[in-house]
Amino acid sequence: MTPRLSQFSVNFRLRLLLVTLLTMLLCSAGLIWINWQHSSITQQVNSRVSLAIGAMNAAEQAKNSLVDLRRALTLAAMASEHTEPGTMESVIESQSASVTAAAQSLNRFDPTAALRLSAAAESLNMAAAAAAVELAAGNAGPKSLRFLHQFPQLTASAETSIDALLTRKRQELQKHIEIVDSLQIRLQRQALALQGLLLLLSIAGASIVCRALFRPLGRLYSALRTISRGEPLSAPPVTGTDEFGQLGNALHSLSQMTTQLNQLAYQDSLTGLPNRSRFEQDLANTLGRNERFALLFTDIDHFRIINDGYGHFFGDQVLKAVAERLRWLTQGNTRIYRYSGDLFAIFIESGGPFPAEGFRSLMADEAERLRLRMTDPLSVEGRSISLSLSFSAALHPDDGDKVETLVSAADAAMFHAKKLGRNVVQFARNDSASNARLRLELSDDLRQALKTGAINPHFQPIVDLGSGRVTCVEALARWHHPVNGWVPPENFIAVAEESGQIDLLTERLLLEACTAAAQWPTIQGHPAPRLAFNLSARQVREGVVEMIARALAATKFPAERLEVEITESAIIEQPEVAESLLRKIKALGVSVALDDFGTGYSSLSYLLRFPIDKIKVDKSFVQQLKGQKQAGKIVAATISLARNLEVELVAEGVENIGQMTTLFELGCRMQQGWLFSQALPASDFLGWAQSAPLKLAAVVRSQAEDAENSPRTAPSDSHH
Ligand code: C2E
Ligand code: CA
Ligand code: CA
Repeated sequence: MTPRLSQFSVNFRLRLLLVTLLTMLLCSAGLIWINWQHSSITQQVNSRVSLAIGAMNAAEQAKNSLVDLRRALTLAAMASEHTEPGTMESVIESQSASVTAAAQSLNRFDPTAALRLSAAAESLNMAAAAAAVELAAGNAGPKSLRFLHQFPQLTASAETSIDALLTRKRQELQKHIEIVDSLQIRLQRQALALQGLLLLLSIAGASIVCRALFRPLGRLYSALRTISRGEPLSAPPVTGTDEFGQLGNALHSLSQMTTQLNQLAYQDSLTGLPNRSRFEQDLANTLGRNERFALLFTDIDHFRIINDGYGHFFGDQVLKAVAERLRWLTQGNTRIYRYSGDLFAIFIESGGPFPAEGFRSLMADEAERLRLRMTDPLSVEGRSISLSLSFSAALHPDDGDKVETLVSAADAAMFHAKKLGRNVVQFARNDSASNARLRLELSDDLRQALKTGAINPHFQPIVDLGSGRVTCVEALARWHHPVNGWVPPENFIAVAEESGQIDLLTERLLLEACTAAAQWPTIQGHPAPRLAFNLSARQVREGVVEMIARALAATKFPAERLEVEITESAIIEQPEVAESLLRKIKALGVSVALDDFGTGYSSLSYLLRFPIDKIKVDKSFVQQLKGQKQAGKIVAATISLARNLEVELVAEGVENIGQMTTLFELGCRMQQGWLFSQALPASDFLGWAQSAPLKLAAVVRSQAEDAENSPRTAPSDSHH
């Protein structure tokens, strides 16, 4: 196969182009030379032709003068007959002068003819002179006149020479014309050939320049522009083995590398989702368009347990599955990013002018739909696992008009979602500024309240329905604010955590609770109930053990009557720290209860890695017992698991007989809730505790009388 032009090297192509250009130059020079030749030959021929024409004119003139001479001789002869010598002389003189002049002009072209002619004129003059002498002597019909009559013979040779000259010149002229004609034809042919060659070479040169230089250069240039725009090249812009081909291949690999780099820079390698950098860029771009949109954050609840419990590989597969599910659940106007770890960001554009409220509720519905669908079991590595995701949302422009404000609004909302017990959708609060002010005020008031002792523990009993005894009492913080009234503990505990007052608050409450509980007498021979108190998530750190030890020592409260309640989320956030802390607490002789069980990850097998003596099933399950079969199943499973693992189990939030009965029938004997008592001040609690057995008996009796009774209205808590 002959190689195509594009397969030649650029050097070769350049040389080819050079050769073409040189040849074109030579051709042009040739053309110029031919033209020059043509004009010089024409000039020569022209001069020769004009010479020949001059000669012919001279010969013509000489011939004419000879004719005139002949006529003059005839006249002269006639004149001599009439003896008019003067006339004859002047006629001959004038004619011989014209012959001499003709001979002179002929001399240039044919000296022999000229010589003959002038000789004829000479002899004529001499004859005329002789005749004149004779005539003057009175000689009529002199010899000289005969001579005159003979004169035509004299001129004949001159005439012949002239004729010969004329013929020669005519032939010469003819030859010149022929030469010029043939030369012109030859030159024309040569010029035509050269012009044709020049045209061909021009076409070849132009095609080489276009096909071999400009076209690949153009393609390379446009490929470079594509790359600089950040778009990928699907194929090399120029192929082949030459320098252009190599450049084309280099550009293609550059583009591939750029794409890969882009992917590395903007794509999360695990899930294939765009990453946080891309998110920040896209968010900034979307903000630039001034449209209404929602930014959702979603975070897998207790993902850490999956990683710790099943290993990081499994954790990665879960992340992939979650990403896949999220992608599957969302459509066109929604973009999903892996923001960090197990946190995903979702953009939902309004795609049109939405009134603020309409869009908010639309987004709330969408987030709720996603949240619900994400709780469907996922199949990961052959296992079916159920997860929950917490969602937070911030709207543009309602909750912020900058990247930072929107992200931090969604972040803060996510923090609240996690505090609310996870698996919820939480919108950013756009009153965060006033919120912050209120919190600041509350923190000042809290400091004051801790000084004046306005915060006290109230006590809520946990009863054993099997024996009818109060086995434990949970201390719950109560604060009656001088202006705001009862402040919900969740609010001021959070403020105490944020403002660094939680340790002081807990220590005060613990001291007061231990002091009060130390006073509780044994009731009807049974040992006094244990005291349970709550530790906040922020207290999962060194120092808390010493604090407990200090309180026990100060109040002389027996450690085995003390119990700490800690939520599973507090453990899961820092499992290592929590585990060592719980072991130290247990080493003091204090027991540990897992609070709000079921709201978090609820993996008992995981949680029982930790030294836990008791599980408190969250009130949300208890309260769903009647309506939702699922809640009953979860409670039943938890109860049987706890029994197998020999861990004590308490159900909290029991508000009515129905719940109590169901729980009891499921095997849960330890119960806590408004049905038995609200949290009471220490003084009231003692009175309640004294009559508790009676009251419990009454409750159990009424249950026996009418198990089908409709649920009683729960008594309100002391601060509500
Ligand atoms: P918690 O530890 O789960 O406490 C039980 C909560 O359930 C208490 O709310 C209690 O009043 C309420 N409760 C008891 N029986 C029922 C019932 O039958 N129905 C309903 N709906 N609720 C019932 P409270 O006192 O508002 O406390 C809320 C949370 O604040 C506590 O949840 C605990 O996490 C925290 N907290 C309370 N006191 C302290 C404390 O001294 N220290 C710490 N760190 N946290 C505390
Ligand atoms: Ca508790
Ligand atoms: Ca609880």
